[in-house]
Amino acid sequence: ALAAVERTFDGDGRTADGHRVELLANVGAPADAHAAAAAGAQGVGLFRTEFEFLDRDEAPGVDEQVAAYREVFAQFPGRKVVIRTLDAGADKPMPFLTADDEANPALGVRGLRTAATHPEVLEDQLTAIARAARAESALVWVMAPMVATVEETEEFVERCAAHGLTTAGVMVEVPSAALLADRILAHAAFASIGTNDLTQYAMAADRLLGSVAHLSDAWHPAVLRLVAETCRGGAAQGRPVGVCGEAAAVPALAVVLVGLGVSSLSMTPRALADVAAVLQATSLDECRRLAQLALGAQSAADARERVRAGLPVLGDLG
Ligand code: PEP
Ligand code: MG
Repeated sequence: ALAAVERTFDGDGRTADGHRVELLANVGAPADAHAAAAAGAQGVGLFRTEFEFLDRDEAPGVDEQVAAYREVFAQFPGRKVVIRTLDAGADKPMPFLTADDEANPALGVRGLRTAATHPEVLEDQLTAIARAARAESALVWVMAPMVATVEETEEFVERCAAHGLTTAGVMVEVPSAALLADRILAHAAFASIGTNDLTQYAMAADRLLGSVAHLSDAWHPAVLRLVAETCRGGAAQGRPVGVCGEAAAVPALAVVLVGLGVSSLSMTPRALADVAAVLQATSLDECRRLAQLALGAQSAADARERVRAGLPVLGDLG
């Protein structure tokens, strides 16, 4: 087993047999980007932009957004930064954008859906992202949250292209998007699986509700099947599929995700070293074998147990 010592991360993600896995950081505010760079992250797989919009009466102006985005991009010169457009609604309510009278806000106008009711907010944000991207050398990828259909994907990709943002992708966090990933990825340049919401919607269990927390488990084989289907769609279209939900930060689950075909994992910077260490000790064939074991499980607990038992290298990182 891996020793319980302070592990450091050298920025490289590889399996034991040298298969490359991009290990990236999740960033929620410009200050996080400094910590991510200091932790050795080679890029950002999820830059959540909500921080700028929360607790305000109106959307921030373009100039203010440009300054915030540049601060993050500047930490990763020549590196990939995946910036997500605003994910308002549900667990991230924003009074100027989202209704407060929806019976089921998680199923309402949230994420990219707000672009239909408030197109100017997305327009301003894409303007700011494009301007910040031109001013810095980071490789800026843009993605939309809460995409459910092929049409939404096409429209988002077109809107990005109109701003000169040519690498536009989608988050896969709604089961419909996972099941239609092959068609969605005919238009989107990449997909990033948000396992927090994908689990919520696959299991019909509110991610914030303690009384259904036992159902909210990304280890559930139903969720893993959706991940596998998304990876199949990515492979069919030759497009990369990453994971940026919390599942990516769990070493044993990261192994399974890689075995299912995920090519990048984005996580809180402090998880990078442990995930890198477990991958480094596991071959790609082993990842695939463990992924099949997990897919064949009856329950989340069964999947977790099967993989832990088959991965003695985990030690204290279980
Ligand atoms: C997710 O849903 O997994 C995700 C990464 O997005 P958020 O947690 O911001 O909803
Ligand atoms: Mg989400």
